Amino acid sequence: MYAEVAIALPVEKTLHYAIPVQLRPICEVGKRVLVPLGKRRVTGYLLATCSSLPPDVTDKEIKEIIDCLDEAPLFDAEMLRFLHWVADYYLAPLGQVIKTALPPGINWESSYHVSLTPEGREAGAGGAAEETPATQVLQAIDPDQGSPLKGLLKRYPSRSIFFTLQKKGLISLEARLKPGKTKAKKASFVEARHSSLSSDTLTPKERDILCFIKESGRPSLPELRKRFKRVSAIIQALAAKGLVTVSEAEVFREPMLETVEREEGPFSLTPEQQGAVEQIGKALEAGTFHPFLLYGVTGSGKTEVYLRVVEQALALGKGAVILVPEISLTPQLVGRFHQRLGREMALLHSGLAPGERYDQWRRVHRGEVRVVIGARSAIFAPCPELGLIIVDEEHDTSYKQEEGVRYNARDLAVKRAQKQGAVVVLGSATPSLESFYNARQGKYRTLLLPNRVGGGVLPLVEIVDLRKEDQGLFSPKLKDALAENLEAGRQSLLFLNRRGFSHTAICADCGAAFTCRRCSVTLTYHARSKTLLCHYCGYHLPAFQICQLCGGGKIRLLGVGTEKVEGEVKRLFPQARVARMDSDVMIGRGAQGRLLNALEQGEIDILVGTQMIVKGHDFPRITLVGIIAADVALHLPELRAAERCFQLISQAAGRAGRGSQPGRVIIQTFLPEHYAIQRARQHDFVGFYEEEMKTREALCFPPLTRMVNIRVSSASPRAAEQGIARLAKKGTALLKTQRHAVEILGPSPAPLYRIKGRYRWQLLFKGERVAVLQRLSRSLIQEGKELTGLRVEVDVDPVTLL
Ligand code: ADP
Ligand code: ZN
Repeated sequence: MYAEVAIALPVEKTLHYAIPVQLRPICEVGKRVLVPLGKRRVTGYLLATCSSLPPDVTDKEIKEIIDCLDEAPLFDAEMLRFLHWVADYYLAPLGQVIKTALPPGINWESSYHVSLTPEGREAGAGGAAEETPATQVLQAIDPDQGSPLKGLLKRYPSRSIFFTLQKKGLISLEARLKPGKTKAKKASFVEARHSSLSSDTLTPKERDILCFIKESGRPSLPELRKRFKRVSAIIQALAAKGLVTVSEAEVFREPMLETVEREEGPFSLTPEQQGAVEQIGKALEAGTFHPFLLYGVTGSGKTEVYLRVVEQALALGKGAVILVPEISLTPQLVGRFHQRLGREMALLHSGLAPGERYDQWRRVHRGEVRVVIGARSAIFAPCPELGLIIVDEEHDTSYKQEEGVRYNARDLAVKRAQKQGAVVVLGSATPSLESFYNARQGKYRTLLLPNRVGGGVLPLVEIVDLRKEDQGLFSPKLKDALAENLEAGRQSLLFLNRRGFSHTAICADCGAAFTCRRCSVTLTYHARSKTLLCHYCGYHLPAFQICQLCGGGKIRLLGVGTEKVEGEVKRLFPQARVARMDSDVMIGRGAQGRLLNALEQGEIDILVGTQMIVKGHDFPRITLVGIIAADVALHLPELRAAERCFQLISQAAGRAGRGSQPGRVIIQTFLPEHYAIQRARQHDFVGFYEEEMKTREALCFPPLTRMVNIRVSSASPRAAEQGIARLAKKGTALLKTQRHAVEILGPSPAPLYRIKGRYRWQLLFKGERVAVLQRLSRSLIQEGKELTGLRVEVDVDPVTLL
């Protein structure tokens, strides 16, 4: 018996190992195995078992599997086929793809917990006549608490004996991340009892609480504490009178912590929502692959559509995966789902502690929950009977993983749905060009929500031309609007896509900018920490040093960041309650949720922030959005710069006037004529799409073509340059043998030429057929392996070229 194993390391090929006799019963596809690799022992994933070796492998070089690490498979054949596809498509080693797909840190080797089953207790304690190794092991296990496997293995080093005992039903093996830390959590619940006791004998406080208990069914003590004072004493009194009972029960650890929940719905759907729900519903019933693009303006009620179709999927006995850009950025959406589905859903994202994430993953894996909400990696959720995948804000770039396996969760959503015969819904107010193009090509069916719910109108957008005289940070128009809004007791958002206090620090003597020592970018001044910080690698200098070049001491700050905007607002409106939201201040779990809750409660008048504030939030009292510098996004040397700029402005504008009051948006820009800004002003996505497509057509850029970016990097600038030259030469040679049109762009230094001390060059393949580009790239990866000191990374369908 042999096993094909993928190693959880960047190893290109899968390897074959022999399965020792004692491990045969437990070595199954989808489990992890410990295998020798050179002098090391490494974790691998068991892909297949077979009775003979493939012809290119000889029996002599075959080593044995050391151990099997899992009690149950982590993935099934269907998931494995999907992961195979991912590895092929993104040109990544299969082992690395599998690792990416599983929850991080599932290090089970040292954290199995062994407990005796009733049968096992009997077999161990029953004074069995002969002392077999099995009974010895059984006796070594703590009969009440169970014991960690690690300790037992010190005395009984054969792992397989434990698996055998488990197969016989004498022990249970439970994988624990950190024994003791991932135990179930308990809370007290209070229930009302029927009683003939007249409520006259109660104090008013007791009556209130009893009434609340009756209404809500079985509230928990913490819940009651949130609402009433001195709860414990009153509950005790009620219990003494026989009116309530208090019991302990397990509670589900709520890892989302801070969601923004609001009493609402279920509403009657608008006709457009109804239409969308019906079409998706029909596809769900058909139970075959159906891709939809849900294109609905901001505030058109897309979330309600998601909720309804998830409920439909559940009613059909199917599971659903909902992808959201960065979960911490969408506490409202999570809150709404939570309100409607309660315990029926699991949350998977990187903000969870590893133990929590693992708990969540296991609930899905065991089929306890059918709905998963998560950030991009949730596309690999082991959701049983998957019937529906939703990708909210499908245009969002955070769906693209930019390191390791560079997959795009939005694209994988479509692929996984196709492979599993599921329905996929891509939703956005500003669809990506790719998705809208696919919809126009008839690949996706478009569902349109053209209007805001409740007849709300899209906000009026005004443009301030920053070229005309010195407008300062806030143009008079924006200043007046802010003052007016403040006066009227409404909320305002100020958006600037750049954090920090100011953009760059320059030396007034020689004009040189302070730059990162390891990355080719300027440093950003942060006032609170008084540092100059690199936003790529975290390199920082104390502010202010003398000039690196001329030694001059006159340092001037140029440009602005959110921190400076916040300061300015506070100076201009000392009476206003001002808050800031960007990745510098939103540190720690729940920080964002708390701030959004404060906004919801009306405790903030003006919120300043980066793109964090423009994503999906729904706050009816925000009526003014100011965009401090709209062209920031346009100046990046990026293929998608205009698209990004249009999306950011539209999304920012989409936060204004979602309630009964009309909204107003003021855009400050140096490029008022730019079509991205003009179309965003007119809320004209289709117009923007058509104009932008003309540019892409002229340049033969995606979505009309496909691209693969080959990047090399090295600590030595010469090695990087020579390496890319060699790859380019090889690429050019290969092109001559190609039938299909492929173009090579470059080689050129990456726009961010140096990051974390590595020099970066890149080369782009562009062509109509991605399979051809992938084949070429594979050859270059091979070629790159022969070059020392060089790292070659391949990015299929790159989102950013920086
Ligand atoms: P989108 O995600 O499209 O921007 P939302 O889903 O946030 O829009 O919906 C905007 C607002 O409209 C929310 O406050 C939501 O509660 C409300 N809403 C959605 N559907 C309806 C409906 N059918 N009737 C009334 N209100 C609705
Ligand atoms: Zn840096």
